[in-house]
Amino acid sequence: MQPFTYRQAADVQDAVTTRARHRSDLSEQPAVDFLAGGIDLLPLMTERVRLPVEVIDLSRLPDAHPDLAAVHAGPDGARLGALARLSDVAGHAGVRQHYPVLVEALLASASPQVRNLATVAGNVLQRTRCGYFRDASTPCNKRQPGSGCPALIGQNRDHALLGASEHCIATYAGDLANALLVLDAVAHTTGPDGDRTMPLQELHRRPGDTPELETQLHPGELITLFEVAPGPSTRRSHYVKVRERASFQWAIAAAAVALDLTEQGTVRQARVAVGGVATTPWRTTAVEQALLGQPLTDRLCREAGLLAADGAVPRGGNAYKVELIGRTVTRALQETAALP
Ligand code: SF4
Repeated sequence: MQPFTYRQAADVQDAVTTRARHRSDLSEQPAVDFLAGGIDLLPLMTERVRLPVEVIDLSRLPDAHPDLAAVHAGPDGARLGALARLSDVAGHAGVRQHYPVLVEALLASASPQVRNLATVAGNVLQRTRCGYFRDASTPCNKRQPGSGCPALIGQNRDHALLGASEHCIATYAGDLANALLVLDAVAHTTGPDGDRTMPLQELHRRPGDTPELETQLHPGELITLFEVAPGPSTRRSHYVKVRERASFQWAIAAAAVALDLTEQGTVRQARVAVGGVATTPWRTTAVEQALLGQPLTDRLCREAGLLAADGAVPRGGNAYKVELIGRTVTRALQETAALP
């Protein structure tokens, strides 16, 4: 770790203006970084992957802005403060009753100790687990633009099938964002240019030829809240995560599902997202379209699941994920169909 200036933000305006004084896209070195739970940033700093000259601690902001850490959830919608702890969201009665996919995704994330510290926005914005990215001694286009992508022909067993480019094939590793995606969540932000909202679907960027830019956030822009509108499919929602050990491990494949069924069991609305196989949280429109207007039979779950890898580009080591993600989506659909 290299020396840096530590600053505790007094309020939101102080935080965004301080960071906006510097260009602060994710590739910039030296940089100014926001610090919340520190779950992702601190290991990146100790491994010298991220070398900020200044760190702005956001942890006291809820003193001035309580909504930043608050959780409200019920039949009228959900509002998750950006600085709410994952454990507070997972343990909230309204979230458990009306938005089970959020709870299941959270309880499949990290460990209880980490969930007590990690924040909602920090989790959604977590950076890739690509081993080359996290090893400062290797080239990596995401960490150092133009230096190359060794994962293209190297160790790519954990890498993405969907949304990749010739410049980066790193997988988005989070779970919560996949669940928020099928609930059509919206992110509220504040920044030097004022407040705005954006659908979660638009928050993350595919790598294209600028893999160092991972989100649509502007320099200095801070997420303040995630909001979920009430809807007919939020209660029949479910998360399935496949990983190589039973806990404290990232997904090699995951599926988030939210369905609205008629009384006869026909699919009126379907939202399906996959994790562990794409460069961003990823809606599987081919699966959703195959389900719409159809009776949700076991056969339909299997046929629709096969479409989850639609558009996949395997890279050798990750080819096993093509079948795996199909089976994962199938299982998630079957288990969602069986919910009372
Ligand atoms: Fe870097 Fe992306 Fe290549 Fe990994 S996949 S080495 S993060 S450019």
